[in-house]
Amino acid sequence: MHNFSAYFRPELSDLKAYDSGRDNTNTQIWLDANESPWDNEGAEQLNRYPAPSIALQAQLAQFYQVKPDQLLLTRGSDEGVDLLMRLCARPYQDAVMIFPPTFAMYSVYAKIQAAQLIEVPLKAEDNFAFDEDLFDRKLTVNTKLIVFCTPNNPTGNTISREIIIKICNRVKNQALVIVDEAYFEFTEGPTLITDLNEYPNLVVLRTFSKFYGLAGLRCGVLLAAPAIVNACKAILAPFPFNTLTLNALAQTLRGARSVWEQQHAVILNERKIMQTVLSKLSCISKVWDSASNFLLVQCSDAKKVWEHCKSAGIMLRYFPETPLLENCLRISIGLPAENQKLIAVLKEF
Ligand code: PMP
Repeated sequence: MHNFSAYFRPELSDLKAYDSGRDNTNTQIWLDANESPWDNEGAEQLNRYPAPSIALQAQLAQFYQVKPDQLLLTRGSDEGVDLLMRLCARPYQDAVMIFPPTFAMYSVYAKIQAAQLIEVPLKAEDNFAFDEDLFDRKLTVNTKLIVFCTPNNPTGNTISREIIIKICNRVKNQALVIVDEAYFEFTEGPTLITDLNEYPNLVVLRTFSKFYGLAGLRCGVLLAAPAIVNACKAILAPFPFNTLTLNALAQTLRGARSVWEQQHAVILNERKIMQTVLSKLSCISKVWDSASNFLLVQCSDAKKVWEHCKSAGIMLRYFPETPLLENCLRISIGLPAENQKLIAVLKEF
């Protein structure tokens, strides 16, 4: 039996997940939660706190091909990162390791938790490859979380499964290895989800905000060993999701995959076109390969290009003062007509 308590803050060990009793299907009359007995809004039963639905949990588990107890629905994958930091990193004692340039919120949540941040920069000169030597030199015994993002935002490249698995083994009984697969659906894989049964300290994060087109719902999932899922539940707010979100998500999961497949093909095709066209523009000096739904480009003067596009009504992502991203812009792949418009505006520059 694996000793999961080695990963979690010991002062949290006596916390249990909030039990709402709302999953008790025998109950006819609810007089336990000081709710209003009137359903003034009709159909959706908004007078009641939202029940954690066993059916939705089963739907999600099937969607991600895990067992229901290996999955926690979160308010975006953002919340998954935050929960893990709060669960594992003791303030002023433990460290979180990240690989910049990467998703900015990892360091924000680490800071909120007062965890030490260990940065192991990707090798900018080698297309942002993972730096194994530097990882070896920077890993400390107080490192409790290692956060991989693959495909990485904003560099667009992937980190190999072999490297991640090697590190899972290396830090077993010491640290959790988070693999943020927010953009996984745009890659050819492999996913680390299939490794969860074998590597107890592995946690995979997925989101409905990108490929599935539901950023407005704020839903993600944390996939991990049941012991990790339960420990996260214990520090989660009661009833974190509202009824409307839960209903909309269940509806989406029942929906047709063919729409996503069709949109996926459009994005990959547009990514290829945009990479070729952008790399020929005089204001852009480099376009990196991307396994995601965005392209990272280097400009002669990123600030001026960004401002020019902004004044033409097109918002791109600019990274002022971010190390290794000097003069870089991140461009999401939009609709074909939107991408064409961007090209026209960039040609004017
Ligand atoms: N991870 C990565 C790598 C991201 O780029 C983002 C959003 N930009 C998130 C997580 C958060 O996504 P959400 O909270 O919408 O699931």
